[in-house]
Amino acid sequence: MTDVNLATKLSFTGKVLALSGGVGGAKLCRGLTATLTPDQLTIVANTGDDFDYWDLRICPDLDSVMYALADLNDEERGWGLRDETWRTLIAMRRLGGAEWFQIGDQDLATHMLRTQLLRAGQSLSAVTQQIAAGLGITHSLLPMSEQTVATKVNTDQGWLDFQQYFVRDKCQPEVRELHFEGADTAQLNPLVSSLLTDEALAAIVVCPSNPFVSIDPILSLPDCRGLLKKSSAPVIAVSPIIAGRAVKGPAAKMMRELDMPATALAVAEYYGDLLDGYVLDEADAEYVDDITALGIQVCVAPTLMTDLNSKIALADALLTFAASFKA
Ligand code: GDP
Ligand code: CA
Repeated sequence: MTDVNLATKLSFTGKVLALSGGVGGAKLCRGLTATLTPDQLTIVANTGDDFDYWDLRICPDLDSVMYALADLNDEERGWGLRDETWRTLIAMRRLGGAEWFQIGDQDLATHMLRTQLLRAGQSLSAVTQQIAAGLGITHSLLPMSEQTVATKVNTDQGWLDFQQYFVRDKCQPEVRELHFEGADTAQLNPLVSSLLTDEALAAIVVCPSNPFVSIDPILSLPDCRGLLKKSSAPVIAVSPIIAGRAVKGPAAKMMRELDMPATALAVAEYYGDLLDGYVLDEADAEYVDDITALGIQVCVAPTLMTDLNSKIALADALLTFAASFKA
């Protein structure tokens, strides 16, 4: 990719930690990698979506971020790899195997290598680093925990595993409650804990990811909220809701089902005193006063990321905003 041509004059000093889910988070992370050096940026991804399928360990959010950072993601489909083929899936269908979760032929290699390395005893962080390096990624990408945490969704049809709800049932069941199984005994990735107490940390970014199923699993890990709040770096979220709608996925539908208005303001209220700053889309400028009244500083910017330039522009606006907290 031609970062050199697209690079802006922005020079941000200090380290940045970004909390990310899959697609929305990955888009902003791609903007951040264009502006920040590998020494500066650490991305921590949700692993509450992870599950086993075809006897393979699948980590959808880690993979979405990896593929986006490597510029190998399929922007149109919104998940998986570009120029993908589906011969294995078709063969699996012929054999009567499970086919509700689609795995492309190239994507399969990621899951096979991950599963193999995990079974050989490597940590998920080490495995992620090896796969990311294979894709040419130089920035740090970490799973939120080395231990297994599994998001469970209580719906009008009972408790569902996250991927059953999200992929198999296409987010149609009505959400009543969420539970992150294993989160109470899991440990926040120690590399994240130590970064949170690093004096060089200058910003903590909550990506425009689903607050309930992408960010909350990370926040639910023991000590995570406390460390975020105690950090001297400002915690800044980017709204995943623009003009009352999610750009992609069930965030807005979920908000209504959880008895919240589907607005950018409600997301800010939901994160509450965790936040020092909030990046709001221009379409939602009407909420500036309400959010400021919560004690959260606001930056209004175009937040819809449709191409590399808009990802970089949002990352730059966010980092300029973050730098203003020092002054
Ligand atoms: P998932 O794990 O694949 O569901 O992805 P995330 O949780 O990271 O992202 C889903 C959220 O990203 C949804 O709430 C979307 O509204 C939001 N999102 C996706 N694209 C954009 C975008 O370009 N701008 C903003 N502000 N939010 C986005
Ligand atoms: Ca996800």
